[in-house]
Amino acid sequence: MENTAESEVVDLCRDLLRIDTTNTGDPRTTVGERAAAEYVAERLGEVGVETRLLESAPTRANLIARIPGADSSRGALLVHGHLDVVPADASEWSVDPFSGEIKDGYLWGRGAVDMKDFDAMVLAVVREWRRTGYVPPRDIVLAYTADEEAGMEYGSQWLVQNHPDAFEGCTEAIGEVGGYSYTVNDDLRLYLVQTAEKGLDWLRLHATGRPGHGSFIHDDNAVTTLAEAVARVGRHRFPTVLTPTVRSFLEQVSDALEIELDPDEPELAVSKLGPIANLIGATLRNTANPTRLAAGYKDNVIPGRASATIDCRTLPGHADAFLRELREVIGPDLEIEHVHQQPAVETAFDGDLVDAMGAALRAEDPGARTVPYLMSGGTDAKAFSTLGIRCFGFAPLRLPPDLNFSALFHGIDERVPVEGLKFGVRVLDRLLRNS
Ligand SMILES: [Zn+2]
Repeated sequence: MENTAESEVVDLCRDLLRIDTTNTGDPRTTVGERAAAEYVAERLGEVGVETRLLESAPTRANLIARIPGADSSRGALLVHGHLDVVPADASEWSVDPFSGEIKDGYLWGRGAVDMKDFDAMVLAVVREWRRTGYVPPRDIVLAYTADEEAGMEYGSQWLVQNHPDAFEGCTEAIGEVGGYSYTVNDDLRLYLVQTAEKGLDWLRLHATGRPGHGSFIHDDNAVTTLAEAVARVGRHRFPTVLTPTVRSFLEQVSDALEIELDPDEPELAVSKLGPIANLIGATLRNTANPTRLAAGYKDNVIPGRASATIDCRTLPGHADAFLRELREVIGPDLEIEHVHQQPAVETAFDGDLVDAMGAALRAEDPGARTVPYLMSGGTDAKAFSTLGIRCFGFAPLRLPPDLNFSALFHGIDERVPVEGLKFGVRVLDRLLRNS
């Protein structure tokens, strides 16, 4: 039987899952990105697609290819996916996380939804095009990246800084995390398309005090000062702010679920969303979560300094207001050090590409309705946005209604429905042919 995109996508995804590309966050122990990039290069090479393997550091490989379209004067579409995955502890899983096992209608493995599924879909679609001689309407740039899971320093950020030429002419992009279904009822499924991402600000609070002996009365203890501030930050609720994306999402979801949306209490609507409530809840406000503490070196010595790390996520356009409010919460005395910052991104949910997403989904699922959403985490879109590219999260998957999809990301027993992969290939093929 001749290979088609739909018939080979599962095997391609399985092969990718079997290449362990665990990104530990430490370049010395991060493995497999080059092997995965070479695998993709071989599969593209088999059908005559030229690729560029760009290494940011030994084994930290990124792969780029350009598929010429019928009209190269139009803006090109960037289609991107990362090849690295977060670690998996095999003892917690019901299958070997790197065996690519198929059972109960799912393909199991670390990276099955984040995001070797989409990597394989793109590969399958392009291979079929080349076998049949199909030429897309405009140029398509493929990017398979390293290091998405640990800050993008060796992946998309390095690419946009060192090889911006690879993305020349790209006006729009699709990648993770979006295009998956949320079932309302038998006749209606919402497909969440990511149009925005929160910004990230990992900061360290430093408190200083007078060092001294632990047996004395002491009223200027850095640990006490820090602990009070950290507790205030941890308990502080930043006010609800409905950004354009979130407002549009809530309006459409309330309409679909036939629930009342009170703009003053959007949390009520969110609480009715079941498995995606957690995902959406964090997009209503800025957040600041204490994650690390450091102070002291001996049980009976009061240290002169103490520090805490706070993981802050900010809404598009609200980073400055966030910092002012945070300063009020922690008070004037502590020093704030910004350890790592990435800006929020947001694009409007309109245009031909967005229309084509809806049309491609409805052709394969008559009950499909697309809705834009803001994601609380970050993706490679942050880096590609800096080139002026409009980025969308659209890696299409039709999911069973009872699957807790968001829990699979970085989760135990990560898996993707086999039928969902095939559905994704059909939708992606339609989208790319009509965009
Ligand atoms: Zn991902």
